[in-house]
Amino acid sequence: MAITHNLGFPRIGKKRELKYALEKYWKQEISQQELLNTGASLRQNHWKEQQALDYSPVGDFSFYDQVLDTSFMLGNIPQRVQNISDNSLDDYFRVARGRSSATESDCSCVQAGEMTKWFDTNYHYIVPEFDKDTTFKLDASRILAQIEEAKAQGVNVKPVIIGPVSYLWLGKAKDASNKLDLLDQLIPTYAQLILELEKAGVEWLQIDEPILVLELDEDWQHALRKAYYSLKRTSVKFLLTTYFGKLQENLNLACELPVDGIHLDAINAKDEVLKLIDWLPNFKVISLGVVNGRNIWKTDLNKTLEWLKPIHELLGDRLWLAPSCSLLHVPVDLESEEKLDAEVLSWLSFAIQKLDEVTILSRALNEGEKVVADALADNAKAIESRKNSDRVHDNAVATRVAQINDEMQNRVSSFTERAKRQQQRFDLPLYPTTTIGSFPQTGEIRQSRRDYKAGTLSDDNYKNAMQEEIKRCIREQEELGLDVLVHGEAERNDMVEYFGEQLTGYAFSQFGWVQSYGSRCVKPPIIYGDISRPTAMTVEWSRYAQSLTEKPMKGMLTGPVTILNWSFVRDDQTRADTCLQLALAIRDEVLDLEASGISMIQIDEAALREGLPLRKAEWQAYLDWAIKAFRITANGVKDETQIHTHMCYSEFNDIIKAIADMDADVITIETSRSDMELLDVFDQFQYPNEIGPGVYDIHSPNIPTVEAMVNLMQKATQRIPAERLWVNPDCGLKTRNWEEVKPALINMVEASKQLNKAA
Ligand code: GLN
Ligand code: ZN
Repeated sequence: MAITHNLGFPRIGKKRELKYALEKYWKQEISQQELLNTGASLRQNHWKEQQALDYSPVGDFSFYDQVLDTSFMLGNIPQRVQNISDNSLDDYFRVARGRSSATESDCSCVQAGEMTKWFDTNYHYIVPEFDKDTTFKLDASRILAQIEEAKAQGVNVKPVIIGPVSYLWLGKAKDASNKLDLLDQLIPTYAQLILELEKAGVEWLQIDEPILVLELDEDWQHALRKAYYSLKRTSVKFLLTTYFGKLQENLNLACELPVDGIHLDAINAKDEVLKLIDWLPNFKVISLGVVNGRNIWKTDLNKTLEWLKPIHELLGDRLWLAPSCSLLHVPVDLESEEKLDAEVLSWLSFAIQKLDEVTILSRALNEGEKVVADALADNAKAIESRKNSDRVHDNAVATRVAQINDEMQNRVSSFTERAKRQQQRFDLPLYPTTTIGSFPQTGEIRQSRRDYKAGTLSDDNYKNAMQEEIKRCIREQEELGLDVLVHGEAERNDMVEYFGEQLTGYAFSQFGWVQSYGSRCVKPPIIYGDISRPTAMTVEWSRYAQSLTEKPMKGMLTGPVTILNWSFVRDDQTRADTCLQLALAIRDEVLDLEASGISMIQIDEAALREGLPLRKAEWQAYLDWAIKAFRITANGVKDETQIHTHMCYSEFNDIIKAIADMDADVITIETSRSDMELLDVFDQFQYPNEIGPGVYDIHSPNIPTVEAMVNLMQKATQRIPAERLWVNPDCGLKTRNWEEVKPALINMVEASKQLNKAA
């Protein structure tokens, strides 16, 4: 009998109920009890949806983040939050967001915990904070209460926790101490937790140690051994879960650990399954993640079943089936979709459907295919339709991709030559000023876009409204005296969706939300077919904007790598291939902009870095195709056309060569919080092209002073010659309001003038 289970269920709710409840609570529009009730009812629904499984996860629900929950469970709460209030949920939100509510009167603000990406996903967790004095003190109340709650609902519970070693790995030492030194203290706290779980009658415990798919040095491997040999002291059975990748050199270690079963991501590590079966002692359980928890495609059930049959024969009861990872990373329910094209819809599967798939597979194995014959036949039909659909395959695109050559990737002349011609053309002062693209997205702008979408605003009226916004934005920029202008991006809802909506091969869900952090969700568009660009996407707006000013107006595009990394992508071709298709489509747009007189074109690659694979050994291969895609997109232009790119982060140490290989004439980056130290790597690498290190932290409402910005740019000038520096904010201004933006930019322009005079 194959056993079914799930590693984690999305917590936001089918209609983002959790988001709305949280935001109301923070605005003090609902009471804490009401928020708690929403949590309880969501959990209840989620367990109901998982009823058909043999084991359901408990403890996967969170009001903000499961890593932060773990920190609270272990009593690792930053000093600055202790003793602020006697309400632990509010303290919890204080660590998450810096405060417990949105009201001005809540003066008990503290610095929010740092947030970072959960492995290679778009989920962000709150980084545990450590120092040499960190101590732990168990508070298992939350998970114990949820176990009780689940049991009362008849759920066969399998609590989920983050393992001690991954927990340490995910955190950050705030002093020079080695966080691994804390393991000896942490183990007894976990031991106590497991004892509590045993008392609560827990049979199986899911312990996540996702770091097993990473390159681990000896200390960390040793830590895993030490932890599990110490913890295996009760009757509670451990299912050690790994996901997002292969175990590779850690496979042996994983097999040796004294646990009762191992979960392997059989999507990403399919070729390790047989080895795992061979190496794992034959009394242990093997859980295979056979349904992809990271994408939205239907599983090919018949194919998977054929593959599973001999494995099931071999393992019998030892075989468990599950999605590859927690379903936190996919939308909740396909049934909510009312507007998706029926054919595309038939190819998709969200969290609830993915669990159905697991159940169908197990029933076919346990009871024979006949009992699920209809489901298998339907699935075969959907898989077949997707394989052969001419909505997916476009020969013209395939032909173009096949014709990609080296020449397309290179500018006509070297940067030195280009820079000369561009200087002649633009005649910019030293320390030229510009912005990153967007200006405040006011209430009126959003309303116009909404009305237009709803059909209550006509094409013409919408166009007029947006042109008015562009006009205003340009007038403001001219008044401010910026050197290089932007049109302000009023017409864009989102930097990926805006382009996706105009490209073929893209579909958009209504409710396909995925949690990004806390109450924040994203709705990644779905790439289902070959990408092409039927008509120009931005040219009209840019041309209009340029017609209003003598100053250069940057055309504004999102790059292929970012579009790819922020979409759900196809699983029937490589990411690299999809990226090349995107590159060709955006390249067409670049050339059309140039042809219509736009002299500077910015291609944002905000998400280039986050696409890096989990293992360093695979970085180069990714960077090779990602940079190639950028070069195809950008490098078809004349020497006199200036290519800008923008990246919203501040870590370039290990990818600086790739960044230089992009060969953009100007790169703008986020630096204002790093005191320009980040430019060291550009200096050391002798990065040859122009750089705009952000001097205005747009994530904060603060208005930077002239002195502060001059000071930052002086520091920049110690590292990069003034001739190659630009002055600009860290990122786009769309989340700020005009009252903040104006004084900040007045100061920024003044800073540039002072720098110029002093040069
Ligand atoms: N051009 C975009 C903007 O200004 C860039 C946003 C980003 O990089 N995240 O909003
Ligand atoms: Zn940015």
